[in-house]
Amino acid sequence: MQSAQPVSPASPSRPSLAYRAAILTVVVAPLIGVVLAIRLLWQSAVSWTDITLLLVMYALVALGVTVGFHRMLTHRSFTPHPAIKFILLVLGSMAFEGPALSWAATHIKHHAVADREGDPHSPLDGFFHAHMGWLFTKQMEDPNVYCRHLVKDPIIAFVSRTFPLWAGLSLVIPFAIGGWHGLIWGGLVRMFLTHHVTWSVNSVCHTFGKRPYETNDASRNEWLVGLLAFGEGWHNNHHAFPRSAIHGLRWWQFDLSGLLIVALEKVGLASDVYRVPPEQLARRAARTAALRSDLRAAEDAEDAAATPLVGAAASE
Ligand SMILES: [Zn+2]
Ligand SMILES: [Zn+2]
Repeated sequence: MQSAQPVSPASPSRPSLAYRAAILTVVVAPLIGVVLAIRLLWQSAVSWTDITLLLVMYALVALGVTVGFHRMLTHRSFTPHPAIKFILLVLGSMAFEGPALSWAATHIKHHAVADREGDPHSPLDGFFHAHMGWLFTKQMEDPNVYCRHLVKDPIIAFVSRTFPLWAGLSLVIPFAIGGWHGLIWGGLVRMFLTHHVTWSVNSVCHTFGKRPYETNDASRNEWLVGLLAFGEGWHNNHHAFPRSAIHGLRWWQFDLSGLLIVALEKVGLASDVYRVPPEQLARRAARTAALRSDLRAAEDAEDAAATPLVGAAASE
């Protein structure tokens, strides 16, 4: 039986001490890994096995998050072959960013109320909060509330339920291949990088960069995050067209995740790849231009209204 606990309206589901300790471990352990890696590098040259493990594990796990958790699971941008769905969900789980279903629920809520009351990670509550502080203040969202349709899918439910196994495997594999050095580079350093790059989408891409499209939030396109996060940094594009499988909407906006989805489609492992129709893109760009020119006109009118007063004051 659950005990009746007073619930503060400011913190509807404050996580337990054990949960916060687990988050702290997941945040701090990779940091220790990076310090150890630098120390190892200082004493002896780092081996090609270490660097290869880091790069390959980073690429696979990051694509698991961007293509698997984000575009496939949360936004249903394409329909994968069941084997691809399983592999992508397993790779995403290896990022230590929580079970697939909780990840999707939290992200669906982010889109629903982005940069408004209830957004799990808006920089309007502070840049650090948006980057990683939010992990300590609130449990991840409930899939039964935000994505019941996903809970019923047996593959998704299985991979989500067995999350600790896949997360653990992402440390065991580099250890089996490269020993302790392998664990540090392919496990902890890789985890450190995937965490901070993913978190940068929430913090940096709602704070810095350009906004080619007017949206109900502060989302922005930041090219550096676009590069490191395999296309996820074109975040204003994404908030404007959440279902689009391709986030790099211009030819120069590099989007490795989008390229992978197109490649999967070409070999018959993905179908129903959603692309924004060009006329919808043009309509959205025109609406943005109209809104901004209205805003400029309003500002000019305000300036013009203020000017005679200044002139009158000066002539007195
Ligand atoms: Zn966002
Ligand atoms: Zn999204």
